[in-house]
Amino acid sequence: MRKWMCLICGFVYDESKGMPSQGIPAGTSWGDVPESWRCPDCGQKKSGFKMRPIDS
Ligand SMILES: [Zn+2]
Repeated sequence: MRKWMCLICGFVYDESKGMPSQGIPAGTSWGDVPESWRCPDCGQKKSGFKMRPIDS
C-alpha cells in the first residue's frame, strides 16, 4: 500500500485507508480508483491528476 499526493493541492490519498466517504473502500490501489473520481480538494479529475508516490 502506498500514499499518493496531489501535486496541485497537496491532498494525500492513502491506499490503506481508501476513501469510504466517496465509495472507495480501504485497500483500493490508486490504479483501481475509478476514472470518474475527483480530488476532493482541488476537483481535478483522476485522468488529469498529477500524483506522486510518497514512500513511507
Ligand atoms: Zn488536488
